[in-house]
Amino acid sequence: MSITDNIKRLKNEIETLDVKLIAVSKTKPVEDILEAYNAGQRIFGENQVQEMAEKEASLPKDIQWHLIGHLQTNKVKYIAPFVSLIHSVDSIKLLKEINKYAEKNNRIIDCLLQIYIADEDTKFGLGFDEAIELLRSEEFQHMKNVRIVGLMGIASNTENEKQIKEEFYELKTLFEGIKTSFFRKEDSFKEISMGMSSDYNIAIEQGSTMVRIGNDIFGKRVIKHFKNTEDSSEED
Ligand SMILES: *Cc1c(COP(=O)(O)O)cnc(C)c1O
Repeated sequence: MSITDNIKRLKNEIETLDVKLIAVSKTKPVEDILEAYNAGQRIFGENQVQEMAEKEASLPKDIQWHLIGHLQTNKVKYIAPFVSLIHSVDSIKLLKEINKYAEKNNRIIDCLLQIYIADEDTKFGLGFDEAIELLRSEEFQHMKNVRIVGLMGIASNTENEKQIKEEFYELKTLFEGIKTSFFRKEDSFKEISMGMSSDYNIAIEQGSTMVRIGNDIFGKRVIKHFKNTEDSSEED
């Protein structure tokens, strides 16, 4: 099936359930993104800062760019002028940097806290306690240019559907708890970003509001998954 067919099919399947489709275009050329764009897709996810900045510069301005991969503090400045949502906030230090560059650009940047739910140690994210600690911190209370609009999680890379379901269920439960404790009066805290090509059906069943789909739209990537997150050569 073509990219156009895939977008139409997925939009129909997912958006009728009131779930947002994030087309994950990492490693894919701008021509592929344009094809998806012409089929009506407006939200694209990338996991590398430089790649996203280059694509943003050459593509239509009404595209909403979502950063879904690990973000290093020293790279925040490159995406702060245009990024629409950062899914991968995994430390207060990073959030502080996002706040700083959001202020410099005169904007408020929407963010998700990435929560560690997988049974693997290669993935980034905050533990449940760490997320709560961050939200409670005085430092966070003073940040005026970031807005936490929800949580993001990546389930284990396993065939075991029961396990995936439990991991998504945990994220949904944490979301409800955090909503009650910290955002009761804020309607903007409403997003749960969970689900990829292999598990988005389970994620939607468990309450996902945003699915991040690459393979099922653009076909297999030549470069393996999570390239960026495994590259520790320039860690903070
Ligand atoms: C690559 C990636 C996806 C998309 O994965 P597919 O299997 O291609 O659907 C989703 N989320 C994150 C964080 C990713 O890095």
